[in-house]
Amino acid sequence: MPRSYVAEAKRHGLGRRRERIGPIVERLAAEHSDAQIALRFRSDLELLVSVMLSAQTTDTNVNRVTEVLFRKYRRPEDYLAVPEEELERDIYTTGFFRQKTKAIRGTMRVLLEEFDGKVPNRLEDLVRLPGVARKTANVVASELGHAQGIVVDTHVRRLSQRLGLTRHDDPAKIERDLQALFPRDAWIYLAHALIQHGRRVCDARKPACERCSLADICPSARPGVS
Ligand code: SF4
Repeated sequence: MPRSYVAEAKRHGLGRRRERIGPIVERLAAEHSDAQIALRFRSDLELLVSVMLSAQTTDTNVNRVTEVLFRKYRRPEDYLAVPEEELERDIYTTGFFRQKTKAIRGTMRVLLEEFDGKVPNRLEDLVRLPGVARKTANVVASELGHAQGIVVDTHVRRLSQRLGLTRHDDPAKIERDLQALFPRDAWIYLAHALIQHGRRVCDARKPACERCSLADICPSARPGVS
């Protein structure tokens, strides 16, 4: 259990969680109006593969690899038509290339066998694909316009804790807290904005509280900054 900033927010008179939601959404929207997924893709299939490749690496690295990859692999069949080692080589620089290759090929098989070669947009279908956990499924479903949850990655987790929006450390529990707090139509944008804020302002090691638009309503703002 992380240090609870939920209680600290109350103690410092910053208001209850629900009262701070409006200002948090408004300020993030003003500051990060350009917040969107950084992965580059042109189809549902490219989206799914990009998100699967993005585990444990940067979006920039994935985009560098997929720029070439997607010229060669256009349909689910293409990923199964080459020897496993060839796909491993093609995605090598994204790291964990053996596991990712197995997951991608397994996913392509299921897409062909059960979904007519199409990427499903329901969370319960997406999580049935090999190597597709809830976070990946949430990202894909959201980008396909069918958000059924909130993406909780490392940035969303850290920001939710620092802003005192959750007492939890487990992504599934954090997601439940955020779902209860934020209106459904804010779910997709919220994740993008928190990720952006985490990258640009609220760094894991050196949060820039002195230039943070949320400092006056953030229970973990450094003392003297707000
Ligand atoms: S005030 Fe500091 S800790 Fe709080 S969200 Fe901003 S940068 Fe992060």
